[in-house]
Amino acid sequence: MKKRFENQVVIITGASRGIGKGIALAFAAEGAHIVLNYASNVTAAEKAKAEIEAYGVRCAIVGGSVGDPDVAKALADTAVREFGRIDVLVNNAGISKDGHLMMLADATWREVLDVNLNGTFYCTRAVLETMIAQGSGSIVNMSSSAGLRGRSGQVPYASTKGAVIGLTKQFARELGPKGIRVNAIAPGFVETDMIDGLLGRPGVRDAFIAATPVGRLGTPEDIATATTFLASEESGYITGHVTMINGGLLM
Ligand code: NAP
Repeated sequence: MKKRFENQVVIITGASRGIGKGIALAFAAEGAHIVLNYASNVTAAEKAKAEIEAYGVRCAIVGGSVGDPDVAKALADTAVREFGRIDVLVNNAGISKDGHLMMLADATWREVLDVNLNGTFYCTRAVLETMIAQGSGSIVNMSSSAGLRGRSGQVPYASTKGAVIGLTKQFARELGPKGIRVNAIAPGFVETDMIDGLLGRPGVRDAFIAATPVGRLGTPEDIATATTFLASEESGYITGHVTMINGGLLM
């Protein structure tokens, strides 16, 4: 039986660990070739590549920050050179640097903007020439529940994740007529390295679970399931949409 993404080509930023890796494995299991991006952890990236290729697909790695437009261009160029097309872009890479409004260093503000917002813009722009020529493509942007309601102490993070939703809707309007859909996902608390430190603080894990009606933290697989749906033809009439995956944390 033909797999859902057989021979399709999927670029995923920040895919060496956490949610991005879960998404990459889900696409690989469905037959897609993967272009995997990471920031600095080569060992984790090589391990993810081996796990992806165990599904019988190919994986190309492009290291470097998505906040660098040259890295974004290298991602698109690698996909076309190695695999000949780009079907899906998942703008997953993100960083969280906490800071209250009055105490926030300018450098922190700019760093988070560069990765979470500018990176999403650069990578999207980089794939457009190919997707427009194909007349098809699907882009999924990783926002956050923090981008929908704000979160105390997370000024740059929540601001950028809100902006990713604005960007998603704007791009969906501009690109819909060209056959390209753009959607966003806003996860709640997902157990990854990003929130590991937070979960280790006394009482925090229990408090997060207590605030979540389904009674558990999210997993990368929870996010991957929705990402493959939004990338597939099954969601062909969905664009500019924000899918909340949070176990009922926000509703
Ligand atoms: P994570 O565990 O910290 O993993 C981050 C991944 O992104 C790693 O592969 C890392 O590469 C890569 N990365 C970091 N900075 C990068 C950069 N500048 N350029 C390219 N890649 C970069 O994070 P996660 O929890 O999986 O989060 C993934 C996405 O989901 C983020 O956008 C995050 O904001 C969003 N999200 C997460 C949660 C949550 O509870 N975990 C909730 C809502 C939204 P290296 O291995 O090289 O460092």
